[in-house]
Amino acid sequence: MKTVLAAAGVALVLAVGVSAQRGRGGQPPVPTAPTPPGPPRVEALKKEAAAEVEAMRVQTQQMVDQVFSFAELGFQEFETSKYLTSVLEKNGFKIERSYAGIPTAWFATWGSGKPVIAIGSDIDDIPQASQKPGVAYHDPIIAGAPGHGEGHNSGVPLNVTAALAVKKIMEREKLPGTLKLWPGVAEELVGAKAYLIRAGLFRDVDVSLFAHVGSNLGAGWGGGFGTGLVSVEYTFKGESAHSAAQPWRGRSALDAVELMDIAWNFRREHLRLQQRSHDVITNGGDQPNVVPQNASVWYYFRETDYEHIKELHEIGDTIARAAAMMTNTEVTSRILGSAWPQHMNKTLAETMYANILTVGLPAWDADDIALAKGIQKELKQPQVGLATELGPLRGGRDPEENMGGPSDDIGDVSWVVPTVTLGYPANIPNLPGHNWANAIASATPIAHKGVTAGAKVQAMTIIDLLMRPELVTAAWDYFRNVQTKDQKYIPFIGPNDQPAINMNEKILEKYREEMKQYYYDPTKYKTYLEQLGIKYPTVRQ
Ligand SMILES: [Zn+2]
Repeated sequence: MKTVLAAAGVALVLAVGVSAQRGRGGQPPVPTAPTPPGPPRVEALKKEAAAEVEAMRVQTQQMVDQVFSFAELGFQEFETSKYLTSVLEKNGFKIERSYAGIPTAWFATWGSGKPVIAIGSDIDDIPQASQKPGVAYHDPIIAGAPGHGEGHNSGVPLNVTAALAVKKIMEREKLPGTLKLWPGVAEELVGAKAYLIRAGLFRDVDVSLFAHVGSNLGAGWGGGFGTGLVSVEYTFKGESAHSAAQPWRGRSALDAVELMDIAWNFRREHLRLQQRSHDVITNGGDQPNVVPQNASVWYYFRETDYEHIKELHEIGDTIARAAAMMTNTEVTSRILGSAWPQHMNKTLAETMYANILTVGLPAWDADDIALAKGIQKELKQPQVGLATELGPLRGGRDPEENMGGPSDDIGDVSWVVPTVTLGYPANIPNLPGHNWANAIASATPIAHKGVTAGAKVQAMTIIDLLMRPELVTAAWDYFRNVQTKDQKYIPFIGPNDQPAINMNEKILEKYREEMKQYYYDPTKYKTYLEQLGIKYPTVRQ
């Protein structure tokens, strides 16, 4: 939906001093510790679940490689979703497709009764990040094509492995509970999760487990890290004219875009240090001799809490209106995505972390370390290799000390149901992120081992939540009485906003046919590396 912004000089009243999440004012940190082990039967079944995951190593590797080879951008995850739902369907899950008006969104359920456990992870990738896996320098599979330059190919395969391992045990032990798997569509656009919530995906959910690729196994709770954001495209409309013959008859929409960018960059000096904001010009006109009659600029406005994100968005709207006034053009805006700052659940993180301590990091071999050091050297980063020590259980950070950072729309989910994100070690430390370099490990033994370790933790945590109802109660106690006591979820999307499902359509149209030649065929090749004929690792000498 397009919102017409008032072109007149309406004074903007900013919300002042309404930050709902105050710091703890120097109070000592809240104590946190891994959840103690459960009764012997629970611990025995957790051990069995981990062994099941280990036994599924080959299937896990195939899923990770398969999704890597599809390499689809946000809202265009058609092959990925078709494949993942078919794996789940074959294993007895009931699938609901095209959920929330998003063609590539779905959810898969199995089991019955309480608790309902949502298990999610992202599936989309990064523009122009095509890269041969296992090669420690820039070497695209298809130059210019998208690629998994974040590692979102491995999260749902991790969850599927964990769910299938747990399902086997649930069937035999006749454990009540419902597993609800779902994909984070278009996470790189923070484009879908607020809509999944609006459509009711989490209404019956008791707890939510998420997984995100990283370079270590980890979990944390509380807020006080990263940002949330509103993603907005401003479109200016002017009047075309011959740029040389009668330029005075034209009104340039591109001028408005440029003035907006200049104004924003001056204003930036006087914004809070926590903010992150960036833009790309999505339409800069047709050709120089035609005064651009329309032009668009796309902004991400990031801040550390709801009120400040709203303020930043309002400043953007004001500057857009001012640019329209200066150029005698009109401006409309459309929300393309949004994300709440994340706040993870204390009980869930403590429970997950106990399982992280049990599982530990994978045993990397010399080839894995050679690939890691090779790319670190290539990028002139410290050659630390791969993670060999677990980090601490993170938690209770003071929001006042949060200096900003990236966002993830799992933040929205974390404000409607107790949620925790499992970080799993399927990637290499010291990489730039959103870059071809982040793709090189993503279909190699590093990712395969990291996903197996993560799936063990996820499976064990699911068993804990199925069999220890007091943990679910404690999670809700934290959610109701601590997290949401003074701050309630108000979506950034309005009732008329719709998911931007046509994003990235043209890019996939351009590359899809060529990409198909590189889809992984597990019936012919043991691994994707083998299919591509890549020696592992390939490191510059
Ligand atoms: Zn991500």
